[in-house]
Amino acid sequence: MRVYNFAAGPSTLPLEVLEQAREEFLDFAGTGMSVTEISHRDKAYEAIVREAESLVRELLGVPQDYAVIFVQGGASQQFAAVPLNLMHNKKADYIVTGNFAKKAWEEGKIYGEAVKIGDSSDKTYTYIPDINKLSYSDGADYLHITSNNTIFGTRYPEFPKCKAPLVADMSSEIFSREINVADFGVIYAGAQKNLAPAGVTIVIAKRSLIQDPLPFCPTMLKWKVQDENGSLYNTPPAFSIYMANLVLRNLKAKGGVKAMNEVDVYKAGLLYDFIDNSKLYKNYVVREFRSIMNVPFVTGSEELDAKFVSEAKKAGLVSLKGHRLVGGMRASIYNAMPVEGVKALIEFMKKFEKENA
Ligand SMILES: *Cc1c(COP(=O)(O)O)cnc(C)c1O
Repeated sequence: MRVYNFAAGPSTLPLEVLEQAREEFLDFAGTGMSVTEISHRDKAYEAIVREAESLVRELLGVPQDYAVIFVQGGASQQFAAVPLNLMHNKKADYIVTGNFAKKAWEEGKIYGEAVKIGDSSDKTYTYIPDINKLSYSDGADYLHITSNNTIFGTRYPEFPKCKAPLVADMSSEIFSREINVADFGVIYAGAQKNLAPAGVTIVIAKRSLIQDPLPFCPTMLKWKVQDENGSLYNTPPAFSIYMANLVLRNLKAKGGVKAMNEVDVYKAGLLYDFIDNSKLYKNYVVREFRSIMNVPFVTGSEELDAKFVSEAKKAGLVSLKGHRLVGGMRASIYNAMPVEGVKALIEFMKKFEKENA
């Protein structure tokens, strides 16, 4: 029996997609081979990469002068790729709103002056610094933000506007909210949160910004090279891109990002409303910065939290343990989590509260 999986990543995928992948696994598109066995130079495989690229473009409204590429190494590899492609003046701004944002900033420091212009660690990352009150550095090559903070459950309701190109790690929220890609210089996202199995990372980058990577940038990290080769410079993470393509088709069939966002907002609303009205559970994030993808909550007792996680598992609601940095629980309710999954979680929370209050 399938469970409701609230893992932060790798995470749940749409059931229809898993079924389709199973269906065509042994004989992909009449090739007599599985998609994991065919050459990435085979026309049948190339078609997948081109379709996935064009679906990303369509679903996010990516302008023509932006590259859309599929790369490896996870979002963490992009922490280095960002400065290696963009840091010509050896200076960039970073807003540190969580663990991954901090890692990106620390990686940036290897290559130049990475200026931390905002930091919400004073309140354990439960808010996003006021973007209108930050002092952006003159001559910065870019400003790096983490648009949704997976561990702490925060997100930017609006994005900073500054002179330097905006670079956003959208790993845990891409395709869950409408964005204007032209407001960004670069967007990147590891796929294993809201899109596909682990192994592939999407990079969307304005082409005019990426023509001149730093001289010591490894070839594999040059976005320009990946773009010129249509993400097929070397062997791509073939299966993950194939799965991403199926999820993108599925998203399009469900009405695209706008329709998905409505469902996501609804799901998150159900859960936050319940938490806010309960006596047992608490979410510490400042309301206006609450993520619609990752919802952390606690009971106030570590012992009770542990009991919650283990009993929820027995009830078919798995991977609810919070990140080790924050403890408690976290429900990741990505696009692929059905409304019924969130309702089942709330029913369980009610029952648990009654039994343990
Ligand atoms: C998970 C995550 C990462 C790290 O992704 P990897 O693919 O494991 O490198 C980076 N940023 C954010 C926002 C994430 O959620």
